[in-house]
Amino acid sequence: MAELWQQTLNWQPDPKQSQQFEQLYQRILAGNQQFNLTRITNPVEFWEKHLWDSLKGIAPQFNLQDSPLQVIDIGTGAGFPGVPVAIVHPAWKVTLLDSTRKKMAFVQTLVTDLGIENASTLSDRAEQVGKHSQYRATFDLALIRAVAAAPVCAEYALPLLKPGGLAILYRGQWLESEAEALQPVMAQLGGEVEAIEAFSTPISQSVRHCLYLRKIAPSPQQFPRPIGMPVHNPLASNPQ
Ligand code: SAM
Repeated sequence: MAELWQQTLNWQPDPKQSQQFEQLYQRILAGNQQFNLTRITNPVEFWEKHLWDSLKGIAPQFNLQDSPLQVIDIGTGAGFPGVPVAIVHPAWKVTLLDSTRKKMAFVQTLVTDLGIENASTLSDRAEQVGKHSQYRATFDLALIRAVAAAPVCAEYALPLLKPGGLAILYRGQWLESEAEALQPVMAQLGGEVEAIEAFSTPISQSVRHCLYLRKIAPSPQQFPRPIGMPVHNPLASNPQ
């Protein structure tokens, strides 16, 4: 896949990173039997939908690879996009957050066994973590893929960012009407939509979008709201 990495991301993994990607694939296959982690088990599909997709979202940040960024992956599941991101950016410190304790125990063992020293796991709800002084407003980058609707993801991510920090929402389809609905929500959370990138994946040509949300002001203390409320009553145009 070296050529495809080069053509699409203008980057190639070094031998250690290639080996870690292979080990990651083998561990996910093995873990799948116990934890039902992903429906993607074919090696090419794994490369495209898990490895490539995870890294494509942060490609605009590749120039920050030597900066000691604090990164959180919210709802990481089996470790995506956070684990490939930690492999590729050893200078970044990546917190892998998920509310499912069993998945986090699996990911912690995986990270340790693959020798990924710059990633740690946290088993908790995003709504709780966003209230905690140890984590609130401490991250440069928040990644969130396939977790919830965009206003919910924004409510989880923005309070965790430092002022000036960036949330990256990994999406499949994305409509102009969704973008319009998100604008007022961002204003409530102290953020703005900086960019929306549309692209297709290099092998199956699947549609993808990445939303880049910049934090421009502190998020009001009431956000994130209590557990479950962001999902059951998503922020909308009318301030709550
Ligand atoms: N991000 C991974 C990926 O793209 O492969 C996993 C996506 S999976 C569909 C969604 C994950 O988000 C689940 O593992 C779930 O436990 C987690 N999740 C959902 N709501 C959450 C919350 N409020 N706090 C923490 N984790 C949450």
